[in-house]
Amino acid sequence: ANVYIDCHCHISSGEFDKQFFVFLFQAGLLAVLAVAEHFGEFEKIIDLSKRFQGFIFPCLGVHPVQEDLDAALPIIEKYKDQLVGIGEVGLDFTPRFVSGDKDKENQRQVLIRQVEIAKQLELPVNVHSRSAGRPTIHLLKELGVQNALLHAFDGKTAVAMDGVRAGFYFSIPPSIIRSEQQKLVKCLPLENICLETDSPALGPEKQVRNEPQNIRVSAEFVAKVKGVSVERVMEVTTENALRLFPKLRTKIRL
Ligand SMILES: [Zn+2]
Repeated sequence: ANVYIDCHCHISSGEFDKQFFVFLFQAGLLAVLAVAEHFGEFEKIIDLSKRFQGFIFPCLGVHPVQEDLDAALPIIEKYKDQLVGIGEVGLDFTPRFVSGDKDKENQRQVLIRQVEIAKQLELPVNVHSRSAGRPTIHLLKELGVQNALLHAFDGKTAVAMDGVRAGFYFSIPPSIIRSEQQKLVKCLPLENICLETDSPALGPEKQVRNEPQNIRVSAEFVAKVKGVSVERVMEVTTENALRLFPKLRTKIRL
């Protein structure tokens, strides 16, 4: 049996319909963490997590390029007991989104406020960083974050190892098979690796809708690089996910 945990996935995306969820429920994953980008998705994510209780788990948070944190906070508060993490949060310094230091500082403030909430609620953070690997890891460390997942990390491996020393985890999406970040998998200890799909993005094939069952592609890649079996990768990454998101342990359907 497959016991993969998809640690970062946009299951509330309009690309997925009701039929798909039923299929997914039977596809052999152990759990799917549904992350939010903006507060407009929150209710749908909560709704899905109720409909597929013990299988789809909600993380609520505001993506770095969204500006709706004030609207989001009361909803996070409302559902705090059901959340397994805060996310996705983070920093995105690609030129498309930032034109100067002021924009970067705004993103930092939004991340800081959400880290504070995560700390209050004793929840891990599910973190996006794009062209901002170093500033993201440094800020998380500065804020004393202990439990963080860096999803689809695009920074330097030396920076990632700084995160490893802080106890952070890194999730590998199926797009790794066509990415320039393959050396990251080589460097990271298996004990700090989780699996994700970021569906419907970051699939094995560009421009093709990604789905959580593609998580096997990530697992196979990690297995090949680490010289271990896919089963071993499955076992360790699932243990890692359960350690990082401890609320899963009691709530997962078995
Ligand atoms: Zn994402």
